[in-house]
Amino acid sequence: MPSSCALVSRRTQNPDPWAACHPRGCGTFPAVSQEARVDRRIWVDGELVPWERASVHLLSHSLQRGSLIFDYMSVHATPRGAAVFRLREHVERFLHSAELVGLPLERKAPELEAAIAATVRANPGATAVKICAYLPSIEVDVVPLDARVAVAIAAYDPGPDIVRHKPVQPVFHPELRVWIEKRVRNRRSDIVPPQAKVAANYASSMTAKWRARREGYDEILLLDERGCVAEGPTTNVFLVDAAGALRTPRLEHVLPGITRLSVLEIARHDGLAVHETDVRPEELFAAPEVFLTGTTAGVWPVVSLDDRRIGSGQAGPVSLRLRDRFRAVATGGDPAFEHWLHFVDAGRE
Ligand code: PMP
Repeated sequence: MPSSCALVSRRTQNPDPWAACHPRGCGTFPAVSQEARVDRRIWVDGELVPWERASVHLLSHSLQRGSLIFDYMSVHATPRGAAVFRLREHVERFLHSAELVGLPLERKAPELEAAIAATVRANPGATAVKICAYLPSIEVDVVPLDARVAVAIAAYDPGPDIVRHKPVQPVFHPELRVWIEKRVRNRRSDIVPPQAKVAANYASSMTAKWRARREGYDEILLLDERGCVAEGPTTNVFLVDAAGALRTPRLEHVLPGITRLSVLEIARHDGLAVHETDVRPEELFAAPEVFLTGTTAGVWPVVSLDDRRIGSGQAGPVSLRLRDRFRAVATGGDPAFEHWLHFVDAGRE
């Protein structure tokens, strides 16, 4: 695997990437973030409250110990109105995260699905839903004395509602330059299982991705404890092999991405061979195509890894076809997969 010389070459191209991505230079973020007023309502334990009132105490268990679990799903405008993509699977994964972490979440799937649909209806134009369960209580130990779990559901449009108000704007690259992280490993199943979407699980990938961003990379990939490729901080990874088959790491080592699952199902439906197997970093380097998948990313072609070109150095044909196929499916453009959409207005006319 290439060593730090790859970092040096990127650094030379972009001598001060941190300054480039932050107009005010290093360390000038305000101590308390001044969030913009957003005209949306967030569902908190059964009540729709104004955006700015959906808060917890600074000393709450979930903020101090990282015990919040969450899930994140996309919402699409379709001819039949707003639709949540694979709502049932997202809610199932959310409940599984709670179980893995041991959060005593009492609300059941049908109630949560109905609450998500109601929140989307209450927030027209939303393109995403974040649901989270957390311990709002102020605690003195890791085991809470007051184990009441709160649930919140926000439906919003990340660009205009959140990103637009930030001091820097992200630069979108349709093709990714990725760094394989060498110091920090993916979440190990004997610490906090990688299958749990729990806040604490994202601290180490934040550190690693932030470092890679300063070096000029768009994204990172993490290895598991055996040195096999696992996933990105918020994405799964696929390679396309020389025979045109897809390969992706097995579920034991990664978060079960809903986009990963969908791409596997679409590819099988379209007659592509798919394999869930161990993937070594050198197999990614040698692959004609590599792409990432995720709710925000969809299917996202990777054009370089550790500064080495993947394939021709441009998005490959299989990745592009799957990217367009996935987009069409998620937005209701393919009747074979319409059952993946949950229309929030269905039965209400
Ligand atoms: N891995 C991790 C660690 C993630 O946080 C995510 C984002 N949920 C993914 C993979 C991709 O999952 P999905 O396709 O459901 O967004």
